[in-house]
Amino acid sequence: MNNKFLFAGPCGVENREQIFKIARFIKSCGINLLRAGAYKGQNRPIINGKPEYLGMGDDGVKLLAEVQDKLEMQVACDMQSVRQAEILKDYNIFYPQVGTRNCDSLELLRQFRKIFKNTNKIIILKRGTSVTTKELLGYAEHLGGPDRVILCERGVVHFDRDKLNRWRLDFNAIAYIKHYTKYRIIVDPSHGSGDRNLVYSLSKAALTISDGLMIEVHYDPDVSPTDSAQTIDFDTFKHISKLYK
Ligand code: PEP
Ligand code: MN
Repeated sequence: MNNKFLFAGPCGVENREQIFKIARFIKSCGINLLRAGAYKGQNRPIINGKPEYLGMGDDGVKLLAEVQDKLEMQVACDMQSVRQAEILKDYNIFYPQVGTRNCDSLELLRQFRKIFKNTNKIIILKRGTSVTTKELLGYAEHLGGPDRVILCERGVVHFDRDKLNRWRLDFNAIAYIKHYTKYRIIVDPSHGSGDRNLVYSLSKAALTISDGLMIEVHYDPDVSPTDSAQTIDFDTFKHISKLYK
């Protein structure tokens, strides 16, 4: 299992103390890949009368770069524009990430490819929730193909929405991509379920057929300003990290 990826961390960077505390814990579990968004954005611009939470922005990227340097970790961070991609590049963020909502923004994908072309950075491409496997493979080509990209399955639309959350992991697509293509594919059971109680068992299942995981972790999941319901605590993460031993 040692050659598999495990990106873990909060949905978003909140402040210095938060990101260092979480990164140190992840590192203490023997994992050196951190995930955290600096540029957040919600589906709605106003929530409960308040403007959407946009994350720390460029200052968040600066903190993530500091984590990379001080703790010798490599970070995955989402980007939604050319400007943000340039910032990630300037701060040497190792895994620039294209979020689900931009999976099929072809012009943006082409720009990202150009920006990271002459670097050693690998772009994580999260699958759109209504994007087919064939489309996903096409979009990944826009970013530069298997050597430049790691795909991420993070759940797709499905019909069983009354009890289970919005998305469902598409294991068939993972098996297909592993069998028929050269792409690496990791799985995000946090966004893929929307429910922290499902993350451990989905992680275990996903690890058997994929190249690894991306998981949301926080020392106090209930206080996470975004994606709290799907964020696991430190204890649960420790169990997941043991699956890699
Ligand atoms: C994330 O990983 O931070 C994220 C926003 O996920 P997604 O793009 O899959 O919604
Ligand atoms: Mn999130």
